[in-house]
This record gives sequence, structure tokens and C-alpha cells, in this order.
Amino acid sequence: KRAEEMAAASEAAITTDGHHIEVVANVRNAADTQEGVTHGAEGVGLLRSEFLFDDRDTAPSEEEQAAAYKAVAQALGHDRPLVIRTLDVGGDKPLPYLPLPREDNPFLGLRGIRVSLEYPEIFRTQLRAILQAAPLARLHIMFPMVATLDELRAAKAILAEEVQASGHPSAKVGVMIEVPSAAVMAEVFAPEVDFFSIGTNDLTQYTLAMDRGHPKLAKQADGLHPSVLRMISLTVEGAHKHGKWVGVCGGLASDAMAVPVLVGLGVDELSVSVPAIPAIKALVKRLSHAECTQMANEILHLGTAAEVRSRLAAYAD
Ligand code: PEP
Ligand code: MG
Repeated sequence: KRAEEMAAASEAAITTDGHHIEVVANVRNAADTQEGVTHGAEGVGLLRSEFLFDDRDTAPSEEEQAAAYKAVAQALGHDRPLVIRTLDVGGDKPLPYLPLPREDNPFLGLRGIRVSLEYPEIFRTQLRAILQAAPLARLHIMFPMVATLDELRAAKAILAEEVQASGHPSAKVGVMIEVPSAAVMAEVFAPEVDFFSIGTNDLTQYTLAMDRGHPKLAKQADGLHPSVLRMISLTVEGAHKHGKWVGVCGGLASDAMAVPVLVGLGVDELSVSVPAIPAIKALVKRLSHAECTQMANEILHLGTAAEVRSRLAAYAD
């Protein structure tokens, strides 16, 4: 079965009724990207740029970062989309050269785009480095943990200045939808971005107010809870109203049980862990988009994650 999946992995994932769901990879570096392509990734849906910033005493220089982003672009090839997420760290993961204050609630504090806006020099250096890869890639820049339109506009204004100064071609711009305020406001955000990518890991913990790593709560913090699915539905509706595409780059996209409901909710792209790519593509090819849509509409009206899971288990059978 595995060999068949690998052989079929180079083909696009098209449902039985003709909907192309783009299956792309979550990666950390050029080596992962190379492996993703071998496994059939149609692009990179999430480059976690933190790998350049972790485990060191000083911030990486523009040239050092640019070399890494260019290496990823080259591993991917010029025709496949590359989504680079800007630095996503926070008070829970301190970096020695980024003196963040100690916070009582680091997950509700300076995290994701808020760190970049607090330290604009680090943000500008990263944007300049990313833009150096623009001639080599179908480049997309994505901001993490955006909660408000003010944050998005502030980040875009800085990017626009760097694009102008660099003389490089610009990139598509998107935000991660991983905070309920952004999901609820998706329709209002959509005209100001090119795409959304839903981070179901954080969206689940913020929607249910349950820490995703909590020993007692992690099991209940289920991305298939109907409240989370309603957030995803609002996001897709808001985006599609304005002709924008929506990906899912959180763990739910790599979960075979969840894929039929994500497809049914109208998600356009699934960004999954590299080893999961062949199986997720094979699964999409067996799905009917129309059937998934009908099922998703029913599922949105269920009351608990257990009910959703049993409905999806019945469908999988
Ligand atoms: C997410 O929150 O779902 C996500 C993809 O980002 P991370 O897991 O890196 O926080
Ligand atoms: Mg996240």
C-alpha cells in the first residue's frame, strides 16, 4: 500500500468530482523541503522560520537568513508556491538576544507578530532576507498569531517599506488564522490579504481556552470540536466571498479522520507533515467533494467532539 501511495504521490490530489485540493508540506529547512518534494508536495505551505533563530546567542544576519530561504526556494523549484512564516516565538520560548519580559500568561502576551512589531529591526531584517528569495520562488509571506486588523496593517506597512527599498518583486501576503478574533473577522480581513492559513493547533487552544500542552486538558482540546469547525467555516466563507484561498497548516490537516470535514468546509489547501503527504493525497482522491460538503454541514450542528468523531468514523467505514 505504501509503495502504491508513493507512486501515486506525484499526481495532484483531485476528488472524484474534480476538485483539486493542493497538498503541500510543513517544513523547517531545505532538507525537509527536498524530502517533501520527493513525497509529492505541491509546494511548501508553512516554512517555520524559527529554525534560524533557535539555539544561538545572536540574531541571524540578513545574509545568513537569505541563504537559508534561497536554499529552500531552490529545493522547491520556481513553480511551486512557498509560504514563509515570519518569526513565531513568544514569552514561552525566550531567545537570548530578544529580551522579552516575563509574563504571567505568555500565550496571551508578546507572541508571533506581536514580537515582530515590538522588535521592528529583527522583523525588517527578516523581511529583507525573505525578499531576496522572491526572484527564485512563488513567494508568499505569512504573519503568525494575528488577532487584529491593526496588527495586520502595521505588519503590511513595514513589509511595503522593505519591498520598496529592496527593489525586489513583492510577495503574496497572508495571515495565519489561529486566534478566534481573526476567524470571526475573516470576512473583514480577507480584502487586505491574498490568503489565509489556519493554524488549528493554536486555534483550538484559544477557542476552547485549553492549553494544547496541558496534561489534563490536552485530550479535550480537540481540533474536531464543533466550535473549532465553526471557526474554520467562518474563515473559509469570509475568504471565498473575496476570492481568497484558505489553507490549513495545523495538525488537523495531517489527520486522516479530519480531512473529509476540512474538504467539506471548503478548504483549498492542506499543509501537512512530510511523511503524511502520500497518504493524505491518496485519501483526497477517494473523496467526493459534494458528499463531504453535505457531511460538513451536518457536522457543524453537532454538539461535541465525540459526536463529530463518531460521525467521521462512520464515514471512513
Ligand atoms: C498552529 O498553531 O496550528 C500552527 C501551525 O503553528 P504552530 O504549531 O507552529 O504554533
Ligand atoms: Mg501556531
